[in-house]
Amino acid sequence: MSIRVEGLTKIYGAQKAVDNITFSAGPGVLGFLGPNGAGKSTTMKILTCFIPQSNGTAEVCGYDVNKQPLEIKRNIGYLPESNPLYTDMYVKESLAFIAGIHGLHQPAKRIADIIELTGLGPEQHKKIGELSKGYRQRVGLAQAILHDPQVLILDEPTSGLDPNQLIGIRRLILDLGKTKTIILSTHIMQEVEAVCDHVIIINRGKIVADDTLQQMRDKNKGKTLENIFIGLTGI
Ligand code: ADP
Repeated sequence: MSIRVEGLTKIYGAQKAVDNITFSAGPGVLGFLGPNGAGKSTTMKILTCFIPQSNGTAEVCGYDVNKQPLEIKRNIGYLPESNPLYTDMYVKESLAFIAGIHGLHQPAKRIADIIELTGLGPEQHKKIGELSKGYRQRVGLAQAILHDPQVLILDEPTSGLDPNQLIGIRRLILDLGKTKTIILSTHIMQEVEAVCDHVIIINRGKIVADDTLQQMRDKNKGKTLENIFIGLTGI
């Protein structure tokens, strides 16, 4: 398993944002679902070593988030929810910058490959500030996968995209999930159906479902994923 989380808890002041969660994930796409404020982003930030947990353990590719953050950063790609990009940089320039941070060998070849893979070709000579939201997301994804990480953490990568852009990004996620472990947070149930093989639903910091998509369907015969979600997380 590329991701192992055990008894993970995060307390902000008096609030338990993540409450003793345990799960693991291997290659494929794990849909990480839950209402706003459930604790999804907090869990993702702990896994990517952006913030420390209060209790419990989290491992990525066998490395501990507290003891081996550098090894984890080499093995993980992260697309945060509101992905900050340098809008004055050109697409290629921004990728060269990230390649430099990772110390990539032969960055020009890798950048060309990633531009091709993410469909950035037609826009590659533009400044990021001149791109549509869909292409900006592609730049974010390109930056996240440039160093070929084994694990990808994608926090609402398709929010605000139009249907054509959605399909493009989903195809890419599906393709990457053939070899990599991906945690995908999304509110779009259609997207979960389209790309996820494993689903975790989190509510008020606790895991309320952890199944393959097929198991979830079998356990809740006749219900849509949306109904299952509302049943487990509604008031
Ligand atoms: P989600 O990603 O599922 O919407 P978050 O992980 O962002 O949820 O938030 C979980 C809870 O923790 C929310 O109630 C949120 O207000 C709170 N929270 C998140 N970040 C902080 C922070 N830096 N300080 C205090 N509370 C926070």
